[in-house]
Amino acid sequence: MSNTVFIFITGGVVSSIGKGITIASLGLLLKRRGLSVAIQKFDPYLNVDPGTMSPYQHGEVFVTEDGGETDLDLGHYERFMDQNLSQLSSVTSGMVYWDVLSKERRGDFLGNTVQIIPHVTNEIQRRLVSVLDETHYDVVLTEVGGTIGDMESMAFLEAIRQFQYNNRSQCFHIHMTLVPYIQAAGELKTKPTQHSVKELRGIGIYPDAIVCRAELPLDESVKKKIALFCDVDETAVISAHDVPSLYEVPFVLAKENLDGVVAKKFGWESVPIDLSDWAQFVELSKTTPNQTLTIALVGKYTALSDAYISVVEALKHASMAYNCSVKIQWVHADDLENTDSLDKQFSNVDGILVPGGFGDRGLGGKIRAAHYAREQKIPYFGLCLGMHVAVIEFAQNVLQWPNANSREFSSEDKLVIDLMEDQHNQTDKGGSMRLGAYDCHLVTDSLAYQAYQTSVVSERHRHRYEFNNTYREAFESAGLRIVGENRDRNLVEIIEIPDHPWYLACQFHPEFKSRPNRPHPLFSSFIQGVLSKQ
Ligand code: GLN
Repeated sequence: MSNTVFIFITGGVVSSIGKGITIASLGLLLKRRGLSVAIQKFDPYLNVDPGTMSPYQHGEVFVTEDGGETDLDLGHYERFMDQNLSQLSSVTSGMVYWDVLSKERRGDFLGNTVQIIPHVTNEIQRRLVSVLDETHYDVVLTEVGGTIGDMESMAFLEAIRQFQYNNRSQCFHIHMTLVPYIQAAGELKTKPTQHSVKELRGIGIYPDAIVCRAELPLDESVKKKIALFCDVDETAVISAHDVPSLYEVPFVLAKENLDGVVAKKFGWESVPIDLSDWAQFVELSKTTPNQTLTIALVGKYTALSDAYISVVEALKHASMAYNCSVKIQWVHADDLENTDSLDKQFSNVDGILVPGGFGDRGLGGKIRAAHYAREQKIPYFGLCLGMHVAVIEFAQNVLQWPNANSREFSSEDKLVIDLMEDQHNQTDKGGSMRLGAYDCHLVTDSLAYQAYQTSVVSERHRHRYEFNNTYREAFESAGLRIVGENRDRNLVEIIEIPDHPWYLACQFHPEFKSRPNRPHPLFSSFIQGVLSKQ
């Protein structure tokens, strides 16, 4: 880490002001300057495993190549920086305490009193630099979750303060705050920012730049005021005003020269940044689309779109490439269970997508959606649980096995989806998940092959149950095609139903690998399927 630069972003005034997008955008700008960049998130909550948290409270669980189940902000980082991350990029207070307490149990502290300072703060610093263990990076970006003043994030901030004490010339602090617009006064107000910076300085962290989230661009006088009261250069007060799309944020920050302010501190020479590919994508998102496609997303957490954020983004990326836009019709799976008319529910729908999920709530509704899509020849895309649903539906209605089911929901029925042999005796559910990247071999005359244009792909997984190979022949003779397989473990990865405009379901989560300027091949193919059905 001899010459690595550490950039920290903290948040003030309110939560959800876009620290994740800001740091991911800065990551993109720095990468385009030719620097190598690592990025990580410190989350103050005590959960040890973000994978077990409710998507209702925290949004989607994002899965990394190496099988890390992480906060959804890592998805933003990957999409903006076009870079795969690992489990090292996700640190929670729970993980830190777990490590410290395990060491204490092992006797590593030799009977000493175990305290937040230095034991917890040392462990945080160890994790901060652990992203450099195997690879050198020019820059490490670290987002500290929560808002200044929260008790929960204090240990992280103290650890950062200590780290900076020992590595002062290598640290840069960005503080992001809300600058509210008061309609009646017609003014942007700087006072909450002043207070937040005062609190941060009280902790011993002095911001080098202040990124101000505001409804309107900050004018010179507002910037001057913040600069004076918060003791930063005027050029280091960055206006992060609202823009119609997340993907425009890198342009706003580039125009405000945030990366230039960082470069100045470390004496990096100024280099022109090429964002033309992003500009093209953003331009596309602004042009009036030729067509709007309505995709029904049949799920459990439909009240919170963050629960399916990577799916939503992947649909956006793919549709934009075809110059159309996607309107998502959120369908609560429970509602489909008892309705008499699916025709009404799906009357304006061009495609149906059943995403991943856990638990049996709404299962019947999802099966009905897959059934409807298959029979009414509406394009269907099943992701993970969406594949289980497609397989169960096919077994119940084509193979005429009314009690076909998944072991996730029953242990007695005809289990067309089951645990693998070696999983049966495991009691620790978390431990038995298939997580992260696995290879998949494709059959050449398939939709999947047409989409990927290659015969071996690698995709990310997060599930426990698999297609049951005992029934494979029965399925294939009845017309379900198995077009993707993991050969090492003999596992079904992709199924298709021929004589249908587009019906494909996969055991993995392709949404995690979609990028704004590189839509995922299966999402592109789905959109193409929906378009050609028009
Ligand atoms: N609940 C299913 C399983 O564990 C599917 C998981 C998912 O959709 N991610 O196998």
